[in-house]
Amino acid sequence: MAVAEPRPAETIDPITDAIGVLQWAHRRFGDRLCVTASFGDGVLAHLANAAVPGVEITLLDTGYLFAETEWYADDLAHRFDLNVRVIRPDADLDRNVWQTDPDACCAARKVEPLQRALRDRDAWVTGLRRSDSESRRRAPFVHDDLLKGVVKINPIAAWTDDHVAAYVERHEIPDHPLADRGYPSIGCWPCTRPVAEGDDQRAGRWADSDKTECGLHQV
Ligand code: SF4
Repeated sequence: MAVAEPRPAETIDPITDAIGVLQWAHRRFGDRLCVTASFGDGVLAHLANAAVPGVEITLLDTGYLFAETEWYADDLAHRFDLNVRVIRPDADLDRNVWQTDPDACCAARKVEPLQRALRDRDAWVTGLRRSDSESRRRAPFVHDDLLKGVVKINPIAAWTDDHVAAYVERHEIPDHPLADRGYPSIGCWPCTRPVAEGDDQRAGRWADSDKTECGLHQV
């Protein structure tokens, strides 16, 4: 079998490549593709909808999203005609577990709802980027997520903050209302704090503990 030549560096464009990855994923998996977006920014939702118009975009609503995030997701859905599906946790969960056992809280409010969202899907698209944090530096573009039983696709894994800024400017995507208040990474309100200039983007997530991931991503 012939081995493809590596592409010349000047022909590699992570933004164009991400659209190509999403279109390949849709050709390969069709309606069995699940795109999740946390709406901390509008990039992945906009990009997925541009690559595959009308593609379903899943928001995992833990019950502890900032009110600003709920408003922002709704605003982007109307502005860009996004097809947003909201998945919520079991309504009977204890409301206070985040105070004593954040891992159990994430398991019940993020991981279990994601498992439900992926139940009838073969592939999962995420907005994970290598520049998010040290623990995500080696995130692949595509791999088998054996724990979840799906192919995991990270189309913007190689995007830098400059790629994000260029895409946002090109498509006039508004910022999350908390972005200019020191929140470069936005999760649940009990577990997200603003960060200082120059800090790791995810430094405000579970800032008082060793926890760095919610359990959705094994990176
Ligand atoms: S991030 Fe915090 S509030 Fe959100 S699910 Fe995890 S522990 Fe619960």
